[in-house]
Amino acid sequence: MFAPRSGLEALKPYSVEEIQWPIRLDANESPTDMPQAIKTKVIEKLAALPFNRYPEISALSLKTTIAVGFGLTAANVLIGNGSSEILEALCYAFGGAGRSIVYPSPSFSMYGIYAKLADSQPVPVALNADYTLDADKLLAAAKEAAASVILLCNPNNPTGVVLPPAQIEYIVANTKSLVVVDEAYHEFYGKSSVNLLSKYPNLAIARTFSKAYGLAAARVGYLLASEDIAQTIGKVLLPYNVNALTLATAEIVYNMRQEFAASLAENSRERERMTAALGAIAGVTVYPSQTNFLLVKSDTITAMVARLSARGIGIRDFSTAPGLTNCIRIGIGTPDENKAVLEAVTA
Ligand SMILES: *Cc1c(COP(=O)(O)O)cnc(C)c1O
Repeated sequence: MFAPRSGLEALKPYSVEEIQWPIRLDANESPTDMPQAIKTKVIEKLAALPFNRYPEISALSLKTTIAVGFGLTAANVLIGNGSSEILEALCYAFGGAGRSIVYPSPSFSMYGIYAKLADSQPVPVALNADYTLDADKLLAAAKEAAASVILLCNPNNPTGVVLPPAQIEYIVANTKSLVVVDEAYHEFYGKSSVNLLSKYPNLAIARTFSKAYGLAAARVGYLLASEDIAQTIGKVLLPYNVNALTLATAEIVYNMRQEFAASLAENSRERERMTAALGAIAGVTVYPSQTNFLLVKSDTITAMVARLSARGIGIRDFSTAPGLTNCIRIGIGTPDENKAVLEAVTA
C-alpha cells in the first residue's frame, strides 16, 4: 500500500495566488527586465550553446567567477536552482530526524517548510515588536533545542528590517550551530557577513540572482561556505542540478553586475519616497526597509488590499499570518507603478 511519508500530510502546498496582476508587486522581483546590454550578450551565448550536452557537472565556471570576487575558491561555492534549492539541501545535510532548526519569526516562510521536509524540528523564535532580533533570546533557544542549524535572513523578508552585522557576528561567535545568513536582499542593503567566513567555520552565506539581478526566471542562487560545508551539502544536490542555459546566463549577469547600479539607486530613491508617503497616511505604519519591498501595517488593511486589487496591483497579504497581523508587503516598483500604489491607497 502506498501513502505519503509521515509528516507530509500535515504540510500545506506552497500557495501563492497565480494571478497575473497588471502591476506585480507581490514577489519581490525586479520591476524591470535585465538591461539590454546584458540581454544581448545572453542571447548570443545561448545561440552558441550545445543544447544536446549536459551542463558542466560541477558548474565550475560560474563557481570560479563568483569565488574570485570574494577571494575564495570554487570549492567554497555551491550553485542551485535559486538559493531555495541550496537552503533546502542544507537542511537535509545538516538537519535530519531528531534535530532542530532555529530561525526568527516572522521571516521567510519557507524556512519552517525546509526544516519539516528534512524531518527536523522547526523552532521559530519571535522577533521583538519592532521586528528587531533579540540575539540572546535566539541563542538561548538554539542552545535549549541543541539546534544544528540557525537560519537568519538579512535584511529580513517580509519585514525589510536589518540585523546589524555586529549582531550576526555575536550570534555566530556564541553558538556551535551552523549559522546560515540568507542575504537574498543584500545588494539593496550594501552590508554583508561574507567577511566573517574566514573567521568562523560555522557560517554559510546564501545569495540569489532572483532579486537585485532581476533573474527570477532563470532560478539561480549560490552559497558561500567552508569547503567542508560545501562538500557535505553537495552530497544532497543532484548532479547537473543547474541547467546550462541558467549557468550561461548567470555568468554573464554576474560579470556585468555593475549594469544594475542604476536600478539599485532607483529602488533606493523610490523606497525612501514610498516609506515617507505611505507613512504619512493616518493609521499606517511602514517598517524601515533596506530591501526592494515595504512591510505596511494598518488597522484598515482589508480596505487597502481591496483598493489595490481593484486597480490591478498585486501585493502579498500577510494580514492574518502569525506576528504580521494587519500587515501587507508591497514591492517597490517602477516610479509609475509606485505612483499607482499611492493613488490607490490614498483614493
Ligand atoms: C527570494 C528569496 C530567496 C531566494 O529565492 P530564489 O529565487 O530561490 O533564489 C531566499 N530567501 C529569501 C528570504 C527570499 O526572499
